[in-house]
Amino acid sequence: MVIIGAGFGGLNAARRLRNSDVSVTLIDRGTSHLFQPLLYQCATGLLSEGSISTPIRHLLRRQRNAEVYCAEATDIDPDAKTVTITRIDSTVCEIDYDYLVVAAGMRTAYHGNEHVAQHAIGMKTLDDALSIRRKLIASFEMAESLPDAEQRAPWLTFGVAGGGPTWVELAGQIRELATLALEREFRSIDPRESRVLLLHGGDRVLPSFSPSLSQRAQRTLDDLGVETRLGVHVTDVTEDTVEITAKASKEKTTVAARTTLWTTGVEAVPFAASLAKAVGVDQERGGAIAVTDDLSVPGHPEIFVVGDMSAYRNLPGVAEVAMQGGRHAGAVIAGLVSGSTARPAFHYRDLGNAAYIARKNAILETGPIRLSGRLGWFAWGVIHIAFLAGIRNRTGTVVTWAATLLTNTRRERAITYGDLQTAKRSI
Ligand SMILES: Cc1cc2nc3c(=O)[nH]c(=O)nc-3n(C[C@H](O)[C@H](O)[C@H](O)COP(=O)(O)OP(=O)(O)OC[C@H]3O[C@@H](n4cnc5c(N)ncnc54)[C@H](O)[C@@H]3O)c2cc1C
Repeated sequence: MVIIGAGFGGLNAARRLRNSDVSVTLIDRGTSHLFQPLLYQCATGLLSEGSISTPIRHLLRRQRNAEVYCAEATDIDPDAKTVTITRIDSTVCEIDYDYLVVAAGMRTAYHGNEHVAQHAIGMKTLDDALSIRRKLIASFEMAESLPDAEQRAPWLTFGVAGGGPTWVELAGQIRELATLALEREFRSIDPRESRVLLLHGGDRVLPSFSPSLSQRAQRTLDDLGVETRLGVHVTDVTEDTVEITAKASKEKTTVAARTTLWTTGVEAVPFAASLAKAVGVDQERGGAIAVTDDLSVPGHPEIFVVGDMSAYRNLPGVAEVAMQGGRHAGAVIAGLVSGSTARPAFHYRDLGNAAYIARKNAILETGPIRLSGRLGWFAWGVIHIAFLAGIRNRTGTVVTWAATLLTNTRRERAITYGDLQTAKRSI
């Protein structure tokens, strides 16, 4: 059995087959399983990249029937039952499968706006988070070195375009970085004067939550000093500006901002198009693959698509859907290899929604239960620690959170350039 992608979906499919008589090959283009829900804390210097990612090999070290390949799946031949993979050194080879689970997830979508893609950083990968961190930290450093307020202003203005929880979490964390962690460390500038513009086309923040929780979140954001602009679209981003267009009046405003962050949408990774073409199925919203009730691809009962890349009954692109989907595909395959012919339908159990707004303040909604403030924050923390992979990461994250609460410092502020050319381009 071959699994493509070691995110929440792929990892859970592999683990479900731990005790089955199958040999599992897990292919990922990276070496680590990434806990995307805490990417924004890595981007804003609270957590290290090591705290939110765990080596895939380490996670599967005790699973004797599993092996791991670091390579990118680029094509598939469903008749020959082979997947083409490209290794790190760009050499290509083919891998055979009897059953295939595709869990390759999504990537940031710029909706064809190349200009925006060039200047606004998305937040989907570790590279994104580290680029955002570099941009944020470098902006404060640049501002400190400039002589007058007019020159500093664009460096200290941060646009955040989006609509989902990540967008709010990122904006809140940038303000907390400026007002709590950096506040006493600069001499020429006052980091608290930095502006964070939260830009969204809808009429309230966090529309996936109930209106009352959304209002509470808005009040907390106002208290933090985040400037929320609703009913607007970001229509252009350049090196030092962000263009905002009001949806109703079409009036355009250009704000001088050296940093614009982009969390407004996702689309399927390129492998989805190869898969759709090879098996002759449609790509639905954002390029996700249409699947049948047991999460297999129509006409190909041996190929399953789970997680964000699967378009199943409009389920949201969240970790729990991917985890449950991965386990389901693993269970169906385990049944088939042990002689069963049953192919049960996938039923998603919705465990709720949570978003971090500020320190000691998060919102959580599960069934009729709605939590906010400290209680919501505590529940949010417990859930995230429970789902973080590896005991070491869990312990380390709790200790870092506690230290940050007590001291207001953020230690993960080192920035790297890779090489000098990158350094010049990326600030
Ligand atoms: C910033 C952010 C915050 C989020 N916050 C939350 C939250 O608070 N709660 C929540 O429930 N969900 C949250 N999500 C969504 C959640 O992370 C996703 O729904 C979940 O990761 C989807 O799991 P997946 O297995 O489908 O894909 P992913 O976790 O994205 O994993 C896909 C894997 O496939 C690999 N891959 C991609 N293409 C290839 C290829 N061609 N060949 C080989 N490997 C490949 C990638 O390297 C990756 O490891 C958040 C997402 C982001 C980006």
